[in-house]
Amino acid sequence: MFISYDEFRQRADRVMAEIAAACVAAGRDPKEVALLAVTKTHPAAAAEYAARYGLAAVGENRVQEGVDKRAQTTAAVRWELIGHLQSNKARLAATHFDRVQSVDSVKLLNHLDRAAAEVGKTLPVLLQVNAGRDPAKFGAELEDAPGLLQAALALPHLRVDGFMTIAPLSDDPAVATLTFQYLRELRDRLAAETGRPLRELSMGMSGDFAAAIAAGSTQVRVGTALFGTRGQEPTQ
Ligand SMILES: *Cc1c(COP(=O)(O)O)cnc(C)c1O
Repeated sequence: MFISYDEFRQRADRVMAEIAAACVAAGRDPKEVALLAVTKTHPAAAAEYAARYGLAAVGENRVQEGVDKRAQTTAAVRWELIGHLQSNKARLAATHFDRVQSVDSVKLLNHLDRAAAEVGKTLPVLLQVNAGRDPAKFGAELEDAPGLLQAALALPHLRVDGFMTIAPLSDDPAVATLTFQYLRELRDRLAAETGRPLRELSMGMSGDFAAAIAAGSTQVRVGTALFGTRGQEPTQ
């Protein structure tokens, strides 16, 4: 059974307090860090809870699940795709999502640009980088990120907001910290080289968002801490 709004509100209050504390510890303004409510595997009510609480956006990791859920609610939130995207679903994703965070190849960039043109929109994207060099994760290699960014900036129907990463699962918290620092350094370097702000750093989940905020995260993607454990873990 899905949690009540009351329970969600308590969980969200706790997460917001932890985000604020992490910001204070890092000498940052809590307004610089947005909370993306990850609603995957949960019912459409999860997006309604997020909207009612005042969150601006929700994250889904599967295209069809997100499309179906969005059709079931009028919740006033933006929908972001955070899971791996295959080129053959680029059209569906460009049509139904407000931003795609999981862009990790030139091929996918080209498909998304063409789809956005057909739909008649400029699609905001983040480039997903495997900053932790985790063989189990999608994302461009750190070395390939500059080329991927060059390709993205040349496409007229995409707007590159920044980067996204997922830290490797590890018992050692230093692994996540290093991963986030690598992405932050990459962003700073590429922003300087291209003269683009590339402001968004989407990094940090329920277990590691404080470390991500310390390293410069501007958006933490939180599921479990907001909605409880998921029934079956989707493959990522
Ligand atoms: C599921 C998921 C999250 C949220 O993970 P939690 O540990 O439940 O907070 C964040 N980012 C991505 C890409 C995800 O797939």
